[in-house]
Amino acid sequence: MRITGTRAALRHYDERRDPVDHKIDPVLPADPGEVHAVDVHPDRRVRTRSLTVLDSMREPLFSSYWEHYEAVCGARVRVILPTSVDPDDPDMCPRCRTWLTLRDSDPAEYARQLRARRDDRVRREQEATDVEDWNRRNQAS
Ligand SMILES: [Zn+2]
Repeated sequence: MRITGTRAALRHYDERRDPVDHKIDPVLPADPGEVHAVDVHPDRRVRTRSLTVLDSMREPLFSSYWEHYEAVCGARVRVILPTSVDPDDPDMCPRCRTWLTLRDSDPAEYARQLRARRDDRVRREQEATDVEDWNRRNQAS
């Protein structure tokens, strides 16, 4: 049984040159690797447009080169498939599986841990910026 409120996602896509207009188009990868899960947050009141798009999608969604989506486990993913995640898929990311188990058994704790992970990342990014600033100031003098 597939897990509701999710979409299967992949880290990479392949590129193929269109024989007619010669543009390079993203295509599903020949070697998909681990299958991650994206949470579509159907019960969240405020959702970003990128999340509401997931409700009615029929084709895979490819991110542009410089952006990405975030899987439940925190991995950066660039392809979101129109299907929900199958927990019996042997290629499913074990960390996503653990996060989704928590989501279904204890939604409040799931939300708390997601927030903690985001806060943690913001803090790490801020620290990295601080270090860069410090380096720049000290090189300038
Ligand atoms: Zn994952």
